[in-house]
Amino acid sequence: MNGKAPSKGLGMGTICVHSGTVPDAIGGGTSSPIVTSSSFQLLEEGGKQSYPRYFNTPNQEGIGKKVAALENAEDGMVFGSGMAAISAFLLSTLRKGDHAVFQRGIYGGTRDLVSTVLVENGVEVSWADSIEGFRGAVKKSTKVLYVETPSNPTLRCIDLKLLAELATHSGAMSVVDNTFATPINQNPIAFGIHVVIHSATKYLNGHGDLSAGVVVSQSSFLEAIRDDAICLGGVLNAHDCYQLERGLKTLAIRVQKHNENASAVADFLGRHSAVGRVYYPGLPGDPDYRIAKDQMRGFGGMVSFEPEGSVDLDSFQRRLELIRPAISLGGVDSLVCIPSQTSHRKVPRAEMRRMGLDSRLVRLSVGIEDIDDLLEDLERALT
Ligand SMILES: *Cc1c(COP(=O)(O)O)cnc(C)c1O
Repeated sequence: MNGKAPSKGLGMGTICVHSGTVPDAIGGGTSSPIVTSSSFQLLEEGGKQSYPRYFNTPNQEGIGKKVAALENAEDGMVFGSGMAAISAFLLSTLRKGDHAVFQRGIYGGTRDLVSTVLVENGVEVSWADSIEGFRGAVKKSTKVLYVETPSNPTLRCIDLKLLAELATHSGAMSVVDNTFATPINQNPIAFGIHVVIHSATKYLNGHGDLSAGVVVSQSSFLEAIRDDAICLGGVLNAHDCYQLERGLKTLAIRVQKHNENASAVADFLGRHSAVGRVYYPGLPGDPDYRIAKDQMRGFGGMVSFEPEGSVDLDSFQRRLELIRPAISLGGVDSLVCIPSQTSHRKVPRAEMRRMGLDSRLVRLSVGIEDIDDLLEDLERALT
């Protein structure tokens, strides 16, 4: 088993633990050794040339294999951050004169990259809110259709099967940022999506203590982006690869707990008199419940809501004792943030309205603490 990718048919928990493990040739240890070299001997003519910035050291390849196995992809590449992964993908795939369609409610950093660097490089960009919007925006020069589902922070879902069909018909590449769902809850490639990207800073590592990103796809596609990614240089070092690997080993059980807790928090908020609208794709009343139910195995750990006008947002955040105000998400600790003041603060007000993002929307990253303690914390802060 050690070192080999497990054969198809293994469960997610088993893949989390075993896939991509780097064999320990010296000690026979069951954990991957941390291979820190930046120079690797060239022994055979035409043999592999390993180098950290070539994305091909043992620990980097181990992560690529593990996440690829979880996403049912052929191969994967690990990067130094989610944005390093996203920028390497977009800059290598889109050239001057190309057109790409992006979901309107994407992560703020991706949005900034698209509306500044991509546009300044001569890429033509359209924004869409729904599958119909994507259909209407596609044209001959369209190379990429890019979504996040569920999206940040309004948790809107896009039908992955329809998106993959649209990509096939239009000759474009379909791309999903699967950070919020995680591979435990959703595998876009199973619906025909070409490329899956993760900010591994979030659930994949899961402990709020490192920054990383992953791209998984067919090997031929990863080869096509590798040369540009090597020029851009956004790599991850061996120690962080090891720490990410350790985080990934518990991904399946962590996500199960995130799903359970978030679902209970969404129910609680939905019944609370100091709370208006609740955003969670697992609630039967959510506008995207049907789509989410068809393509997700669990609904994830993110919940957003709008407190009633009587709740002062500042004192709400101050009264919380366990759930801490912080940016980022997807770790074992529960966090709260107000996107209009944090991740989306650069988005113009009019655009925020178009995204359906209320300035008072509160986003919770529900951790794996005991649910009673979390509900008590929310109750105390809301009343
Ligand atoms: C955080 C995040 C990113 C960016 O990842 P970094 O690791 O912070 O660079 C991209 N997409 C989504 C959905 C995110 O939440």
